[in-house]
Amino acid sequence: MIKKLPQEVINKIAAGEVVQRPFSVIKEMVENSIDAHAQNITIYLNNAGLDLIRIIDNGDGIMKEDYELLCERYATSKIRVAEDLSQLFSFGFRGEALASISFVSEMTVISKRRDQQVGYKGTFNSQKLLSMCPIGCSDGTEIQIASLFYNLEKRREALNKSEEKKSILQLIQNLSLHHSQIQFKLFYENKCEFSSFNRLETISTIMKINQSCIQEKQFDSDVYKYESHIIFTKLSSVKCKREFCLFINDRLVECDTLKKKITLAYQDCYLCLRVEDGGYYVYLSIKLQPKDIDPNVHPNKKIVRFLNEDEISTEISEKLKQELSPQQTVKLVQTML
Ligand code: ADP
Ligand code: MG
Repeated sequence: MIKKLPQEVINKIAAGEVVQRPFSVIKEMVENSIDAHAQNITIYLNNAGLDLIRIIDNGDGIMKEDYELLCERYATSKIRVAEDLSQLFSFGFRGEALASISFVSEMTVISKRRDQQVGYKGTFNSQKLLSMCPIGCSDGTEIQIASLFYNLEKRREALNKSEEKKSILQLIQNLSLHHSQIQFKLFYENKCEFSSFNRLETISTIMKINQSCIQEKQFDSDVYKYESHIIFTKLSSVKCKREFCLFINDRLVECDTLKKKITLAYQDCYLCLRVEDGGYYVYLSIKLQPKDIDPNVHPNKKIVRFLNEDEISTEISEKLKQELSPQQTVKLVQTML
């Protein structure tokens, strides 16, 4: 017999889909900070985010009047009407992240807007504001997420903590490359794991190579109507460390076609070597006309499809190849280990 699930169960299932891991919580929160025009974003993680995640920004802050609706599903300050969806200028628009997180954690929000005398601290659970009081604090927002998945015991147990920390570090490093005007800091157990500098310095630290082995280029096309900015390293001796970080219209996404062609570009240039002997880092930002990106892709899905995907991927990887080996004289860059 079919029966409709109680709302409580529906909410728990939906929340589990939006926030699958500490990684997804951090991605959503950092995007909120960027939407709030933050120039500084600091993230603290305890026990890979399972015990405590704190995200502190110096962005616009949250109005006292907004606390009541802050964690309600489909409550957002970013769009108002359906037409706004066709011209989005923010990462968020669904009003789902805070709501979902509030179902699977104990959440505290401390925020002060520049035009307010004091800030406010609110505690939340299952979409509801539990308590609220004035508090002295600096401009911006701090969100504390404690005991993540306290009510999803299996998910807590199944989490691979070291993998999680690795992917969070990679996420923050990648975001810091794209949003280079923002100062990012990431702490694990109160110890600084990453602090963003300029892009070249970040990549040189990740790959342990000299900055002179990193190049920056702009590839554009009038035919396929795109602009792209690429930062790439020569093949280095950091074995198996291959990172391809792709932003399409400012969103961090994945695209298998591009990834494969970039790998091939390196393989073709370094024929004398087995590619598994070397590593590289490629940051690529592509700006396409919004109408050329598949609108059916769910915002949560990282995979993206776009018009002329094959042609654009081939063109960019061919240009990369030319830059990598102008005279076909290529050799492996030694790392500074
Ligand atoms: P969305 O980002 O889709 O609007 P969220 O659940 O992520 O949904 O956030 C709900 C609302 O909370 C946002 O629309 C925004 O008004 C507010 N908010 C969340 N985080 C911040 C922040 N760091 N600074 C300012 N406002 C925030
Ligand atoms: Mg959001």
